[in-house]
Amino acid sequence: MKLPRGIQVIERGWLSANNIVLRAPSGTTVVDSGYGAHAAQTVALLERALKGKPLAHLVNTHCHSDHMGGNAAIRRKFRCTTSIPAGEAPLIDRWDERELILATADQRAERFAYDGTFGHGDRLGMGEYEWQVLAAPGHDTHAVVFYSPETRVLISGDALWENGFGAVFDQLFGRDSALAETRATLERIAGLDCEIVIPGHGRPFGEVDAALERAFARLKGYEEDITRLARHVVKVLFTFAMLEKRSMPLAEVPAYVERVTILAEVNRAYLKKTPAALAEWLVADLERAGVLGRRQGLLLASGE
Ligand SMILES: [Zn+2]
Repeated sequence: MKLPRGIQVIERGWLSANNIVLRAPSGTTVVDSGYGAHAAQTVALLERALKGKPLAHLVNTHCHSDHMGGNAAIRRKFRCTTSIPAGEAPLIDRWDERELILATADQRAERFAYDGTFGHGDRLGMGEYEWQVLAAPGHDTHAVVFYSPETRVLISGDALWENGFGAVFDQLFGRDSALAETRATLERIAGLDCEIVIPGHGRPFGEVDAALERAFARLKGYEEDITRLARHVVKVLFTFAMLEKRSMPLAEVPAYVERVTILAEVNRAYLKKTPAALAEWLVADLERAGVLGRRQGLLLASGE
């Protein structure tokens, strides 16, 4: 996919979100910083992309660990300014491990400082273009997307992928407007004149209407049966953990799904399985999907 001048996407896997490099003579901006465990790799990739030029700004689409986990390392290395969505600021200030989906999901990130915030309706100069900041609640209540009318490019974070969108955790935890917000966010995106989407995960894509259609269909499935979302959230979080750990003794999976707060809570509230039954279903399902394999009593991550 040919991107407009000055826009480079460093496509990462699923553990780290993509890093989007927006170049300008007045100062380069990077959107999203990847997962903490990949911070050294992220810094090296950015050094290569910057070719000795300074990095002026780092911004985040939202503050989940795979999007902001490299913030501290990037800030240390490049001495750039950091800006985050205004709604995330209180969570970052108090480093809310639950709201940021960190320890409660067995995820980690290095705490970081920021210099500024932005919110819906703001305009940010990033690279050569002006970007509208649009609220994109759903996957993360405080998430934003960046839209450039001039280039018709949308930086969508986890609000829209080529195949779906980031899991809507909040709907399962007492914020039962989260699916409705997800729908409103997709409708907002559908209302944009958009040629290219640069998602937080996966390659940049055109055919935005087809992606939206898939996203709406998926959303409808969750609206009709909330346990679909519960199963999806458990699979997503366990897969993410396995991508970081690479392997886990099969015998430990039941204790793991009981120990990790969010997994245990989703199971208790929606799936209502014994830890052993949950573990068995989870492993079988992810093996069938080709995400996990097993060898000699070990569960192994296949991809990434
Ligand atoms: Zn996310």
